[in-house]
Order: sequence, then C-alpha cells, then structure tokens
Amino acid sequence: MQYLKQDDPEVARIIQNEEERIQNTLDLIAAENHAPRSILEAQGSVFNLKAAEGYPGNRFHAGCQHADALERLAVERAKHLFGADHANVQPHSGVSANLAVYFSVLNVGDRILSMQLSHGGHLSHGDPSSITSKCFEFRYYGVLPESERIDYDQIGNIAESFKPQMIVAGASSYSRLIDYERIAGIARHGSAYFLVDMAHIAGLVAGGVIPSPVPHADFVTFTTYKTLRGGRGGVILCKRELGKKLDRTIFPGGQGTTAFNIMAAKAVCFKLAMEENFKDLQKQTLRNAACFADEFHKRGYRIVSGGTDNHLVLLDLRSKGLTGDIAEKTLESVGIIVNRNVIPNDSEKPDVTSGIRIGSPAITSRGMGETEVAQMVKIMDVAMVNNENSQVLNQIAKDVEELCKKFPIYL
Ligand SMILES: *Cc1c(COP(=O)(O)O)cnc(C)c1O
Repeated sequence: MQYLKQDDPEVARIIQNEEERIQNTLDLIAAENHAPRSILEAQGSVFNLKAAEGYPGNRFHAGCQHADALERLAVERAKHLFGADHANVQPHSGVSANLAVYFSVLNVGDRILSMQLSHGGHLSHGDPSSITSKCFEFRYYGVLPESERIDYDQIGNIAESFKPQMIVAGASSYSRLIDYERIAGIARHGSAYFLVDMAHIAGLVAGGVIPSPVPHADFVTFTTYKTLRGGRGGVILCKRELGKKLDRTIFPGGQGTTAFNIMAAKAVCFKLAMEENFKDLQKQTLRNAACFADEFHKRGYRIVSGGTDNHLVLLDLRSKGLTGDIAEKTLESVGIIVNRNVIPNDSEKPDVTSGIRIGSPAITSRGMGETEVAQMVKIMDVAMVNNENSQVLNQIAKDVEELCKKFPIYL
C-alpha cells in the first residue's frame, strides 16, 4: 500500500488495523471467508477504471476489447463450474441479483412464496423491511416446530391457495439440505417460476459436496464471497430461454455500468473453485461444522434441527441462560467473531435473540481442522458461561491469540 500510505496515511492505517484484526481473531461468521490474495489483487486492478454498459460485443463505450474478454471468460467459467445454460456475472450483490430475477419475469404486485426470515430466510426474500415486499405480495413458509426442518407440506398447501407466480428457496441460517426437487415439483404444478438463492452454500455446491439446485431451478442466484471464497458480488444462473429477459433486467433495467474489477475477481474465484484442492477445502468445511455441532452438543447446548448438513450451526443458548446478544459481545471481547441470530419461534427480540450462528468456512480456509474446532468450542463455552469473569476472559483472549498465530492467513 505504498501509494495509499503516501496519499492518505489515515485510511492506510485503518486498513492495516483491519488486516491485523482479521489475522488475530477467529472468524466464525457463516457469511464470511478468507479470500486468497489473488482475488484481492484482481479487485484492486485497473479494471476498476473501465466504464462500460451492455454485454460483450454490444457495449455503449469504446475500448472494451479486454473487458469483453474478461466477461466472456467469467461467464464461461460460471456456466462450466455449475453446469448452467446461462450466467450473468454483472450483479453488484446478492440482493441486486434477487431483485433482477424478480423483475425479469414478474410484474409489480405479483405473488411470491418464500422462506420466512425468522425461520432462516433472507431479507431480500420479501421481508416487510425490504423493498422487495413493497413491489410484490409475499407469503412465507417456515420450519416444522419439532424437527425444525422445512415444512414442505406447508409449501404445497400455501401454493395451492395463494397461487404464487414464483417460489423462492434458499436461506441464511438453515443448516439442513433443501429438497429442491420437491419444491420444483410444487412450482411446476402451479406454473410458478422456481428461484434458488444459494448465496451461503455456493462453494459447497461448486465443490460437489452437497447437491446442486441448478438442474431443478429456473434461476439460481448467489454471492461469491461466502463459502465460494471469492470477493464481493452477485451472480445469476438461469435456463437458456430466460437468459435474454434476465440480461435486459440487469442492464439497462436495474444497473448501469458494471464493476469489471469485481468481475475479474469472480473469474479468478471460479477458476480456483474448479481445482481439486477446493473440493478438499469444502469437505473439511463440512467436517468442521459437524464437529462444532457435536462438541457443543456434548457441552449441553441445543443445536437447532439437531445438527448440520452444511457449513453452519445454529446454537440455542437458552439451556445456558444466555442470549445471543451477550454471547456475541462476550466472544468478540476474546477475539472470536460470531453473530447473534434468531432461532425458529424465538421469544427474544431480533436485536437480542436466543441463538448464535457459527460458520466453519473462514477457519477452514486458514487451515484449521477438527482438533482446533474442539479446542475452540471448549474456550467458547468457558467464555460464554463466565461472561462476567474478567480473569477467565483474559486467559481465553490469550489462548485465541496463540491459536491465530499458529494459522496465519495471508502468506
Ligand atoms: C448473504 C445473502 C444474500 C445477500 O447478498 P448481499 O451481497 O449482501 O446483497 C442474499 N441471499 C442470501 C440467502 C444470503 O444469505
């Protein structure tokens, strides 16, 4: 950062502090990961400067030969990686990708059936606080009270009466596999489009360690920065016949120029995801998440839905008399970064919550395995239970620091 240090030492210092924070803390946020340096280089490249609207071969600015080559490469890699007919790599984020899908085939006021936010869904799936809910009429499905797994009968029943034009699957805090085939059948029966938002699990799908929604869905959206371990940004895959409509909804419909530096990072991330060691990384991500669930269970915590099939674990803290809020703050004070999360049918408010969400992607990317997970669970338990004992917390902060030093991130 030699130029930045010269032009703006203040910002350079803050960036350096952030790098130190990442190195010296354990990142258990399920939606984060440690991308390789090559991704950051692509994002910080001169492609940041190119302004271009449109698509390869049909731009509204000159000087696009390299931008065109880049976009063609990114699209081909995305299609190959996920076995998709069509890919659009221009969306700025996951939410803008979802908005584009809705507006590509629906009219304002149309009906969408999606998973309820408080049961694991996402804001952009029509939560009342999201603008998506102002444009379309949403109904929600949730999880069964006992198993805490998606209530597929409820999806069928609501679809029967509500007659949605689109059904959305995909979630932010659901630790189980989703039966895409079954939801696709319900959608087909009612002539509804089927969108799967695989933002969280795209890396697990790319690595082939969990089933892919691509064969079953009309549209699949995802972000590149979660399990996929790329930079920020959104991507949409769709069936061949929907490609033209979708592309027009992104540009000129909802975006102007796209970010080619981000697109370069997406292309790199797709390439890395095709390599054999990416599969191993995703396998270990699953094993580490399962280990978190087992170890917390052994220590008397309830795991929502009884376990996990993916990269995340939702912990119910009530058996320990804790709230998500206190757990999050306590863990942050010792260098362990998680987020509080509502659990299904939570009686606490969303800013307090009865749960925390724990993700294995980032610690797996920095090389940690089950031995380290077991060690982490032990110190997390001790920290949370002793959240008012500064002597205990100080010792744990030292343990965390030591563990981080053993697993440096950017070599
Ligand atoms: C993270 C997430 C997104 C959000 O993507 P942004 O890049 O924050 O816009 C969308 N959908 C789901 C299911 C997510 O988990």
